[in-house]
Amino acid sequence: MIINLYPDEYIYSICARFHFYLGTQLRSASRLIKSYSTLLDMCHLMRPITPSKSLIDAAYLLQTHTLHPYFNHFIPNHKKKEIKNTIMNDRLTNLENSMGFKITNPDLCLCPLCFIEDMHKYGDPYWHRSHQLAGTLVCDTHNIMLLSECPVCGEVLATSTEKIPKVPSLFCSSGHSLECVIPNQNKILLTIACENRLLLDEKVNLDVIEIEEKMKGILLYKEHISNKHTSRNIKVNQKFQAKFSEEYVKRIEDSIQSLKINSIWKKQSIHPIFYVLYMIYFSGSITNFVHEDKYLPWKNMKSWPCPNKVCPNYKQLVVQLVNSEMISGDIYGYFMCPTCGYAYSECDGDNLGTLDIISKGHLWEAKFKELLYREDISFDDMKEILGTTFYWIEKELKKYEDLGLELLLKKLYSKEILENIKTDALINKK
Ligand SMILES: [Zn+2]
Ligand SMILES: [Zn+2]
Ligand SMILES: [Zn+2]
Repeated sequence: MIINLYPDEYIYSICARFHFYLGTQLRSASRLIKSYSTLLDMCHLMRPITPSKSLIDAAYLLQTHTLHPYFNHFIPNHKKKEIKNTIMNDRLTNLENSMGFKITNPDLCLCPLCFIEDMHKYGDPYWHRSHQLAGTLVCDTHNIMLLSECPVCGEVLATSTEKIPKVPSLFCSSGHSLECVIPNQNKILLTIACENRLLLDEKVNLDVIEIEEKMKGILLYKEHISNKHTSRNIKVNQKFQAKFSEEYVKRIEDSIQSLKINSIWKKQSIHPIFYVLYMIYFSGSITNFVHEDKYLPWKNMKSWPCPNKVCPNYKQLVVQLVNSEMISGDIYGYFMCPTCGYAYSECDGDNLGTLDIISKGHLWEAKFKELLYREDISFDDMKEILGTTFYWIEKELKKYEDLGLELLLKKLYSKEILENIKTDALINKK
């Protein structure tokens, strides 16, 4: 008997149909007595249902019939390969730890209209993968509410932890019809379902680290919010709730994770749906969010002139913005010249604020040392050549505690004064 795999069919569904049609013929069926829908047990599922390696392989199954491509977008790039190997090779302990977020085990959902269409098309109903995504409450094809329980008696259709996976049916065990079409009235629910489905495509290019940085950038520089601004954080939470509805937010928070914006500042695991919803919240869609520029107050310029007089690139546009952060409501940018190492910080990005010098850089320090040991160069000359103030000369001098008094005295006077002293001495002698 050949069992076809259907478009968008969920791994649980494949198992259910194999069990339904082949019964005990399932290889290593005992291994199936676990949960069916999580990544954790995916490979237990793949082996027994793979009729032969030449027909279908585990990697194909993982990509086409599981939620792995979706979750994979939210795993940091350097961990993706390792995690995929872990799943494929059945070493699953600690998988959730290394992924950085928990996979929930929700009840299975079905769309009654998809069910009927699948029956007509394939003669076989099945569970759709896109209907099982956390946060998806409506069918994005028919824009009707998905069912996870009988609308009459409340019986759950199927749970992903059941011992034997169930094929979908249009009746509950008490015989109530599940042909229940509730049109979706909420536009945002359809948006979420459509955006969520897009992420089942592994070709979508997302980088979770970049998403997080961008989100923090928008919050810091556009909304002026950091972790400390409790009242402003609360305001975002209220606006977020107004956009997605209180009921929806509560539902996600009860079953998956908190959607409070301050989660982003804490070093805690964040479920993909958090990012998906905030990308929609900030930019309307994931694509818009991806194309949005990283927000920085200095973003209109790429480089700034080097203020270091001894740098070969003095006054050239070479200085780069290396970092920025918000300190009690003010935004600080940190800048450095890659040639000479001169580094300074600047407040608020207006380019008019005072530069706060962090380091004069290695070229300046080397020049300082060279000039310091020259008897013919006074501190006044050094001030001029190095383009600095006595404050910085004094500061740098602290590194040279073993300087001879004679040298120091010589350097205290300019060449002219020294010449005058010499001439005076000569005249006196005469
Ligand atoms: Zn449907
Ligand atoms: Zn019922
Ligand atoms: Zn420089």
